[in-house]
Amino acid sequence: MFRFWVLLAVALTAPARADTGSILDAEQFQYQLDHAAALSTSAPWRETEAVLDQLRPYLDRGSAQQRAEFAWLEARIRALSGDMLGALEAAEALLRQDLTPELRLRSHRLAANAALLARRFEETFIHLGQGLRMLQDPALRPDGEALYSLAAYAYTLVGESERGRQFGEMAVALAETGGDERAICTTNQRLAFVHKKLGNNDNSLEHYRRALRYCETAGDGLITGVVQNGIGDLMRLAGADEEARQYFEQALNLLDAHGFDTGRAEARLYFARLELELGNHDRVRELLHPSLELLSNSEVWDYLAEAHAMLGQIARAENDYEAALEHYDHKLMARARAHDQERRRRITFLEVEFNLLHNQQQIALLEEQARVRQLEESARLQGQRIRNAAYAAAGLLIICLLLLLLHTSRERRRYRRMSQFDGLTGALNHTRFFAVAGQRLETALRQDSSFWILLGDIDFFKQVNDLHGHATGDRILRRVGRRLHDCFGAHGAIGRIGGEEFAIALNGKDRAAILDLLDRFRSQLATPRDDAPTVTMSFGLAAWRSPGDSVQAICQRADQALYQAKRDGRNQVVCQHDDTE
Ligand code: GH3
Ligand code: MG
Ligand code: MG
Repeated sequence: MFRFWVLLAVALTAPARADTGSILDAEQFQYQLDHAAALSTSAPWRETEAVLDQLRPYLDRGSAQQRAEFAWLEARIRALSGDMLGALEAAEALLRQDLTPELRLRSHRLAANAALLARRFEETFIHLGQGLRMLQDPALRPDGEALYSLAAYAYTLVGESERGRQFGEMAVALAETGGDERAICTTNQRLAFVHKKLGNNDNSLEHYRRALRYCETAGDGLITGVVQNGIGDLMRLAGADEEARQYFEQALNLLDAHGFDTGRAEARLYFARLELELGNHDRVRELLHPSLELLSNSEVWDYLAEAHAMLGQIARAENDYEAALEHYDHKLMARARAHDQERRRRITFLEVEFNLLHNQQQIALLEEQARVRQLEESARLQGQRIRNAAYAAAGLLIICLLLLLLHTSRERRRYRRMSQFDGLTGALNHTRFFAVAGQRLETALRQDSSFWILLGDIDFFKQVNDLHGHATGDRILRRVGRRLHDCFGAHGAIGRIGGEEFAIALNGKDRAAILDLLDRFRSQLATPRDDAPTVTMSFGLAAWRSPGDSVQAICQRADQALYQAKRDGRNQVVCQHDDTE
């Protein structure tokens, strides 16, 4: 904690070079804001505050971004003036606003910094964690040097030195890339501190020396003093007493010159370690006594315990047991508080880490659940797609089968038709005609009604074929079939029973009705609608006579009548003379 004051004080050391002037118009707002920002890292904080005071009445002229920048500077001034809780509160208020990522990162850093100095470890690690998470964005990484450096220090402070070292190295790398001497100096100084905590004294010394080189170039006296103090202590540990003494003396001079009390107290303690080893008791007392009150007030319990331990050791060596006892009492009390402080720090850190881990695990769990849901959804969609494809395939198959069925049933009907009907005239073929005529006779017998067979034969058809060709003969056959169908289709079954010979089975009709139909037929045949030659036909008509009479027998009689018609000169109808009905 105490050490951090040393680091923070760096910001307060540079000489003032600001002339805030008066605000004349809105255009100067940004200029003054930039000026204040520059001052806040290089001049005593009161100078920055003065610029901010001048800017405050013109705040409404600024954009939201400028007002946020102003608020950040105010928070920083609070930290620099020692009001760490005020700074933390201001930074947290700022973080509740809509900020650019860069300003959000800076606000987390400021909050973590202030919280650390106010011993608010919970907030320290919350803000550090959030800031470090932001640095996962490569675009913000170059701004990460100061936060990594703070993380290096804070993690080391809670016993996470290895992580501290990693952050410290990242900070140094970024600073060296950036090339800012002061940044290279401070990041190396912090990494040196971490290495010292880890017991890597050689590494520590290397970084302290590098820090010293850059701090001297940057002309930063205060941090130079802090670094020299660190080197002095490492020299003492290495047994280079004289060199150590020189570093301590230089450090004390610089820290005295900057009036940096807390840094001076640390330097005096380190120096006292050397003097104690060398047996210079008076020098030890001289170095430590002025710091005891400050260490106690600043609650730097570990240093206070060490100081009292050294003073107690001297008192005992000088046989001043009363003083020795008193120092040991103080030492025990300070040690207990130091342990308490350390434990509290560690526990708070672990709590924050645990919460963070818990949150991360919860987030990971939610993400995993979302992923599973997504997988389920895609599996469902895939399943749906497969089902749809199966349905489509099944549908297609059904349609194909239906079409096939339709086709086969059509074909069946066609074959059936072909097997029952004459392809040229559409009349029933010979076999089918006699079957249907038989059924009609049965119906007539059942109904006790009449049954007739009418036979018709085209006259001189051979001549037609010979004269006009077979094709014309076929056309005439088709015509005869159509006319027969037109006149007798509704009343009887029509069959083609020979080449140019037709038969019609009629039931439920009397002779007069049949002769009427026949007249109609013959007159239609005489007036063809196509250009094929006209033909006439001869007819023979016979009726059912008595039980036992068959279709064949009736046909034979009809044939005899037809023969008669031919003989009598054709183009006429002959009815069996005894078929009187
Ligand atoms: P009739 O008046 O005595 O009946 O004389 P006809 O010439 O009609 O008699 P015939 O029995 O000697 O001749 C029948 C002719 O019918 C013989 C044949 O060339 C013709 N014929 C039979 N079937 C078909 C057919 O499917 N198409 C054609 N174009 N002619 C056919
Ligand atoms: Mg014939
Ligand atoms: Mg004929």
